[in-house]
Amino acid sequence: MTDWTALIRDVPDYPRPGILFKDITPLLADHAAFTQVVDELGEGLTFDKVVGIEARGFILAAPVAYRSGAGFVPVRKKGKLPADTYEESYDLEYGSATIEVHADAFDPGDRVLIVDDVLATGGTARAAVELVRRTGAEVVAASFLMELSFLSGRDRLPGLEVRTLLTV
Ligand code: AMP
Repeated sequence: MTDWTALIRDVPDYPRPGILFKDITPLLADHAAFTQVVDELGEGLTFDKVVGIEARGFILAAPVAYRSGAGFVPVRKKGKLPADTYEESYDLEYGSATIEVHADAFDPGDRVLIVDDVLATGGTARAAVELVRRTGAEVVAASFLMELSFLSGRDRLPGLEVRTLLTV
């Protein structure tokens, strides 16, 4: 067991003044830490597909899928997916954002695990949950490396198993 928590770097005032950015690149560069968190994100959960949220969610979700014998599905920012999509918009601190998923990404009855690096306000994860449900698939859980608990993102994911490996 490695103490990977020391490998998350705080970068103050990025991308804007007042934001303390949680940089996971030192963790990703450490094989023991990376494999450990990938194992923990999916451990004990049963799912058919793993959704990764662009962009850092991709890096974590793809190895979770590979490790678990599940498929990988990207949720991307608007305009990046080539075929027919569903889209969902949500509010950001300034303005709004729209994410998309391919309309045929899931098979009927698929159980889905959503993965991202940071759970902050929960707006992004909430929109991803709505997107997956829109396709007819079932969201069974959402796993994050880290939860910024003072932003109460968990409250926006009621009725869902929410796993976070580190709470700050
Ligand atoms: P939210 O929708 O507020 O929960 O924000 C979650 C998304 O924004 C995730 O995709 C995170 O990667 C990113 N994010 C939010 N806050 C931070 C932070 N302090 N450091 C790094 N990424 C963040």
